[in-house]
Amino acid sequence: MADFRFKFKELNDQGQPTGLFSTKAAITDSMLVLGTDAIPLHQVIGADGHTYNAVVRWHSSGDAISHHAFRVTSGGLKNVLRRINQACSQARARQHRDDLELQGKAGMYRDWHCPECRSTVDLSGREQTPQTWCPYCDALFTLGADAPRDEASFSCCDQCNLYSQPKAFTVFYFWFALVAFGYEYQIKRMCNVCMRKEVWKMLLVNFIFLVGTIPSLVQVIRAYFGGSKLSTSFRELDSANSAAHKGDFQSASALYQRILEKHPHSAGVFYNLGLAQFNAGDLGNAASALKASLNACINYEPAFVALANLLDSMGDTRQLEHIKQRFLGVEYEPPPAGGAVNSA
Ligand SMILES: [Zn+2]
Ligand SMILES: [Zn+2]
Repeated sequence: MADFRFKFKELNDQGQPTGLFSTKAAITDSMLVLGTDAIPLHQVIGADGHTYNAVVRWHSSGDAISHHAFRVTSGGLKNVLRRINQACSQARARQHRDDLELQGKAGMYRDWHCPECRSTVDLSGREQTPQTWCPYCDALFTLGADAPRDEASFSCCDQCNLYSQPKAFTVFYFWFALVAFGYEYQIKRMCNVCMRKEVWKMLLVNFIFLVGTIPSLVQVIRAYFGGSKLSTSFRELDSANSAAHKGDFQSASALYQRILEKHPHSAGVFYNLGLAQFNAGDLGNAASALKASLNACINYEPAFVALANLLDSMGDTRQLEHIKQRFLGVEYEPPPAGGAVNSA
């Protein structure tokens, strides 16, 4: 396959590009070359970023993880992220398949290709579930014809961590003092419920100085009239998440259940329900909802992390090992023989 070439600039501590000239970068058959860094593709964990900047993480030596943050100046940020994730996920999956073959476990190899970003997701040794999670898009995909049409636009919010429909949101504060004026400008990725908290603060501050009031009003409209209300599948999700933000876990749970009646295999909605039950102090139902999330999607990492922490805090090591085995698949390593395994 032909090499893919792009260019980037280094970033300073404020995330702004530095220097006059861009540096060359390339994805070859086996390497990711970022200026003087040449990283074998199978060591690259992935690339993430939004708006302008990207960050690539990779296993450097032993358990150490290195990263490189940069601004893409040629090649397009989305395209560069997608190409890096496609190449590194494919290289890692290929190496895993070869390793399993050497161990005589070739039959345990299983992969899945994300319909959105075309990355390869390694599911070796994991059971088949109604949904699969793409760690590169952070989206859940339902197998079969009844998949919600807009499910690829739902993922976890960077601010509140709830399954929602996050979008890039411009935070803009204009200030005027006696002898000077200035502004703060930042782009964050967040859900509409988190946006609503931010827009009122923005409107209040910008209203004092007048400049910036109109952009703030635009963001208010966007926060209140966009989001899951426009979704054909998860219409009640923002209302449920909003109730959870306010601590009204009973209303939030009822709304999550209403969505689950229509979409019974939604790992993201079960995950939110589990967090609402946990915050309401109902640990038993929280664990049940998080398990239902993994039953809907065995590789859904947010639900696995929450459930593993919950079972660990409850001292339920038997369930914890069972969940680890299901989630990690062929990568699962049982605890040393003789280790205490208790069920609370
Ligand atoms: Zn994807
Ligand atoms: Zn949020």
